[in-house]
Formats: sequence, C-alpha cells, structure tokens
Amino acid sequence: MGILDKMERKLALKRIPFAVTFEVTKKCNLDCVHCYVDHRDTKHELSIKEQMKIIDELDDLGVVYITFSGGELFNKEGVWDLFEYTRSKNMGFKVITSATTLTKPQMEYLKELGILEVGISIYSDKEEVHDKITKRKGSLKKSVEAATYLSKMGVKVVSKTLIMNVNYKDIRVLYDMMISLGIIPTFDLSIINSENNVRDTKKYSLKKSDIYQLFKDKEVSDILLDSKSMDEYCNMNYNFQPEDPRCSIARSIMWIDSKGDVYPCLVYPEPLGSLKTHSLKDIWYNSDKVKEVLELSKYKNYLSCHVCKANPYCSPCIAMTKLENRKDSCSSGSYYRAFANKELVEGV
Ligand code: SF4
Ligand code: SF4
Repeated sequence: MGILDKMERKLALKRIPFAVTFEVTKKCNLDCVHCYVDHRDTKHELSIKEQMKIIDELDDLGVVYITFSGGELFNKEGVWDLFEYTRSKNMGFKVITSATTLTKPQMEYLKELGILEVGISIYSDKEEVHDKITKRKGSLKKSVEAATYLSKMGVKVVSKTLIMNVNYKDIRVLYDMMISLGIIPTFDLSIINSENNVRDTKKYSLKKSDIYQLFKDKEVSDILLDSKSMDEYCNMNYNFQPEDPRCSIARSIMWIDSKGDVYPCLVYPEPLGSLKTHSLKDIWYNSDKVKEVLELSKYKNYLSCHVCKANPYCSPCIAMTKLENRKDSCSSGSYYRAFANKELVEGV
C-alpha cells in the first residue's frame, strides 16, 4: 500500500473526503456513445462563483485534492479561475478531459499551476475505432498529441479507457502504445446508464462470456489487473470484518455534479443532498441518506458475498448493484471478473 493509500485509509476512518470529483459542466464538444452525461442538461448548472464557494466548503472539510471533470470541463468559461482558486487554497487538482481543445500554452499553464494529473480518455490506438466512439473525426489525433506534449513536459498523464464491445480487442496494442509515450494506461469495465436515458450506453457492454475470456487471457488479465483505475478510486477493503466498509463510498470520496448535487461516489445513482439548499458539512455528516449508504456499505450487509468462493478476488460494488436493480450485493460485472480472476490465480 502506497503512502497516499495509507493516508486515504486514515482520513476515511474520520470520514474526511480525501479526493472529490467535481463535475464542472455537462457540456461537451464530443458525443461519445457510452457517455452517461446528458450534455444538454445545463440549465441549472452552478456558476463559477458558486463553484468557488463549494471549493471553500471542500477546503473546510479537509479535502486534499479535487478532480475536475465534465462533460468536457474546458468548455466551461472561467474554469481556469477554479484551478487558480483551488491552488490558492493549497489543495491539489487533477482533470479528466479529452484534451481535444487544449492549446500548448494552456498545457504549459497547467504544469505551472502544479497539476497533479491529467486523465485523458483514449479508447483505441485506431482512429476508425476511437473517432467512431467519440463521433468526432480527428479526435484521437488531438488527444494523443496533447497527451504526448504533457507527458514530455513531465506532467503525469493517465489514459482512461473504458472497455466496450467495440474496442476490447485493442487493449494490448493500446497498452503498449501508451507505455511507449510515457503515459500510464488504465482500463475500466463499468458502463453506466446515461442520465435522462439520452443514449443507450448498455448496448456497448461486453457480453459476460467476453469478460470471462478477457480475464482468462493471462497477458490481458495482467494488464487489466495492473491498471485498474476504478479499483484504485474505490480503494477496496479486503479485511472482511462485519462492521468494516468494503470500499471508500461516502468515506473518503465524494462526487459533486454541476448542479450542486452531492453523491457518495462517482457511480452511486442517488444524491445525498443538494448544495443549493444545504451546506456540504450538513449533507456529508448529518443527512439521512449518508447514514443509509454508510450502513449499506458494511461488509455484514454484503450477504451474497459471505458464502461466495470468489470473495477474495472480488471488488463488489453496491452502486452497480443499485444501478442493476439487484436485491443482493453482486453486480454482473463483479461476478464474472471475480470468478475469472479466481480461476486464473487458482488454476481451477
Ligand atoms: S462475485 Fe458477487 S457474491 Fe461473489 S464476492 Fe463478488 S460480488 Fe460478492
Ligand atoms: S460503491 Fe462501487 S463505485 Fe462506489 S466506491 Fe464502492 S466499489 Fe467504488
């Protein structure tokens, strides 16, 4: 366990949100097929001034760094003021972006501000695959050029690849390409339903048998296990004590959307409360919803996991099971990954 992970665990015990993801805007210049964001739903978005007030509240709560995301966050006018304000409070920041609109001077300024990490969505090494996913011709070229420029300047760049049925065959080549460019590759399998059902994201999900096959391919499985972005975010707990939480939900992580709704993690579908009507402190420490999620996340409530042979190999997710409307604690993605991992390790 690294120093930051250790620090996060300690803060989680005190329920100090270590890392907060903050959606600055839902607007985007791409139109990715799998995206969960409704890009038109911008009517009630907070202004930059209001978002700065939230940064004050995050600072008061003890937040260490903020990951700004979108939509495409660079479409929000004033976003650079947010970065400067965050740094003036001595908090760190990361961004998740397609980097398709970034100019070289802007990238240089990100470095000057001391950005901790730039996460760039790259779905394939092939233009015909990536650009079909983003529905924008030339987007792969722009994203890779930006990632390379940032990386050469010494900025930490992480490529974020969602694995779908249209790109899963590219994992190995994409991985090698990212390593050769000095970029840290990460892969993730969780496709989330889109807001307001604006697009059918689920039709890009891998079939269960494909997930199983992916994990049974030792080389691909090693890549996936080595570069699991979501697992790092979730900070899974393998202690299996009844009162212990299995992940960081509502403890050291939090997601705030562009309208000011606060969520206990990036995937959990129900908000804890709105910053338009309550203070962040009030929502985080006193809301009934947060108490409900904290209770739900204790290992003793993961009933199906207690008797499951794949338990030590699994990262069960109460948010995904809620999204799948399941009554037990086992989402389909967790199930197939866990059993394929088990077979791989135990050779059964
Ligand atoms: S596979 Fe399902 S039941 Fe087994 S540990 Fe994972 S989430 Fe729990
Ligand atoms: S509920 Fe799922 S997505 Fe949320 S932190 Fe836990 S494991 Fe991660």
